[in-house]
Parts: sequence; C-alpha cells; structure tokens
Amino acid sequence: MKDKRYYSFEDVAINEFGMKPSKKVTNDQDKLKKQQEKYLGVCPYCKEPCSYVEGTNVIACRNEKCKGKKIVIKEDDGTEKVIYEPYVKIKQCGAEVGTRLFGKDE
Ligand SMILES: [Zn+2]
Repeated sequence: MKDKRYYSFEDVAINEFGMKPSKKVTNDQDKLKKQQEKYLGVCPYCKEPCSYVEGTNVIACRNEKCKGKKIVIKEDDGTEKVIYEPYVKIKQCGAEVGTRLFGKDE
C-alpha cells in the first residue's frame, strides 16, 4: 500500500502528478501531456478539458459553448434572474507546479 500522507505541496506535486523534485520537466512529450491532462481535468459542466491560466495555479473552462454553473437569483419583486458562472478552479498545489508543467518558467 502506498502511503497517501503528504507533508508539503511539493510532495503532492511529486506523488499526484508524478513529478520529480527537480525543476526539470520530463522530456517525454507523451508523459508530459498526460501530466498536463491530469492537472487540468475536465469541466464538470461541459466535460471538456479545462485550460491552464498562465503563471497561476488556476484552471478554467474556456469552452465558448459552456455556460458553467447555473445560478438563480431571486429579485426583490419576486422575478428570477438566471446567471451563469464560468467554471474556475484553484488547484491545491502551488503555481510552480503549473508553470513547470506548462513550461513558462525559463
Ligand atoms: Zn465547461
């Protein structure tokens, strides 16, 4: 059994994303692509892969056809207003994991 306790963000990056503790990203493009896909995940609303927001630990759905989360707001006069909130997620690991995976570090 694998011990699933993590002691730092670096541990999470290494264990969850298969990353090496060094600053270097894998040269294996297939492996890198898999790591990127795992990092991004999919939008829970449209099921399309999310996009990485450069230099951050934020991922977002950039699918133009995806409305995101439906929110119904009740106005004072009783009418309901429907708005949609785009899907954005802040990753638990630090921004350095993203910059490392998506190569904007140099
Ligand atoms: Zn979406």
